[in-house]
Amino acid sequence: MLSERLLQIANMIEKGKTVFDVGSDHALLPCFLVKEGICPKAYAGEIAEGPLSRSRETIEKYGLEDKVFPVLSDGLSHAGDDVSIVVIAGMGYHTIKHILDSCDVSRYQYFILQSNNDVDKLRQYISDHSYTIEDERVVHDGFYYQIIRFSADLHDSYTPKEIKYGPILLRNRDETFLSYLEERRMRLIKINDRAHRDEYTETIKEIEEILYN
Ligand code: SAM
Repeated sequence: MLSERLLQIANMIEKGKTVFDVGSDHALLPCFLVKEGICPKAYAGEIAEGPLSRSRETIEKYGLEDKVFPVLSDGLSHAGDDVSIVVIAGMGYHTIKHILDSCDVSRYQYFILQSNNDVDKLRQYISDHSYTIEDERVVHDGFYYQIIRFSADLHDSYTPKEIKYGPILLRNRDETFLSYLEERRMRLIKINDRAHRDEYTETIKEIEEILYN
């Protein structure tokens, strides 16, 4: 029912909480969470009627109309007080930033983010607001995706290295993270063979230090 990417997100959600999935055109994640008994109730939020009607179709297909609710909402503007966990996945950094800027982050227990680009900018945003990165995963699902769980609990600023690679990923050094770094290293070496840029050389060195030390 779920792609590896969405399955990894589901694995980061604790049992018994109400989830709001922002940008849920297929509603697959909220339906899965309820079907598997992870969530008693979930919301599929969408900014536009077109994608929201696709969410409704999935909810009806699984017969979950009494537990998964489609909501027309720009970000969390129409999220109720019962929501504890927010998922924002499959979007670009600027859209995610807009959604976070427009809500009261401290109202929720935690957020799970999966940006399709500029993950370092997302970590910088989290750091600039003194939020806490609680968990991070890398998943390979055609591409490598990074998933970040953060809360509004106060945290000191993250270091530039942590912003770039992820504080939890650096600490856990799991296999998928190391494969992701190896792929990035090979890609940068290829580009740098042609472009010869100092910043690429530096990043290659940095990645090698993480991989081989
Ligand atoms: N979250 C799903 C996933 O990860 O597979 C679907 C991602 S889909 C590429 C992005 C969806 O986000 C689109 O259906 C779009 O309409 C919706 N979207 C974009 N901006 C939004 C916003 N500000 N509030 C709610 N939904 C939004």
